[in-house]
Amino acid sequence: MAGINLTIDNKEVTAGEGKTLLEVARENGGNVPVICYHDATTANALCRVCVVEVEGMRVLQPACIVKAAEGMKVQTKSEKVVRSRKTILEMLDSTMDLSEADEIQHMMKDYAVQENRFPDAERRESEVKDDNPMYVRDYSKCLLCWRCVQVCAEDAQYTYAINFEGRGYETQIGTFFDKIIPETSCVLCGQCVGVCPTGALKPKRQFLLEQGVSPNEISVMNTGRKKRKERK
Ligand code: SF4
Repeated sequence: MAGINLTIDNKEVTAGEGKTLLEVARENGGNVPVICYHDATTANALCRVCVVEVEGMRVLQPACIVKAAEGMKVQTKSEKVVRSRKTILEMLDSTMDLSEADEIQHMMKDYAVQENRFPDAERRESEVKDDNPMYVRDYSKCLLCWRCVQVCAEDAQYTYAINFEGRGYETQIGTFFDKIIPETSCVLCGQCVGVCPTGALKPKRQFLLEQGVSPNEISVMNTGRKKRKERK
């Protein structure tokens, strides 16, 4: 069969033209972890947890964007790779609230992450933004994976209600001029909530239930909102 011949973890494999190392590893049973990568969004190598070692390349390569090439020798779980992934997870754990990021918590166990590895790290703190009827935003749980921005833009909705704001350490997800959601172009489609890996974006109903609000009280709130809309 025509294709690109390479080795992944010393196993000879054949890849289709244009496939990334992540795709090739997955097709051959490899388990390369991802955080910012999502099947519905454009890969952008932001989180670097999918890095792999490629013989002859000076630095580790993000498997989500690097294409397979003829003769490549790729290691997906070498000591260097594992150490790098572990450090990334330890930095995230030291700087943000991962309590609702189930997949990342599993990863942290797999990589034997040392909790509070960087005790002096500045933690990301933010008030919960509750400004619309569909979802709440808690950016103390946001790891800036960019998935929500991507589905709000060209990867799905073409709405452009949210984007990165600020620079360097101050970077965060926000709305234009920090407007509340109802004053943006947001159409409350919920796609951002669906792709958020950490619980930073959460359905309003789930948020209210966790706050102890009963399903009946939530129904009354929604009915009131519907009636107000009907009166307009
Ligand atoms: S809010 Fe969620 S989806 Fe958006 S960047 Fe933060 S962690 Fe990623």
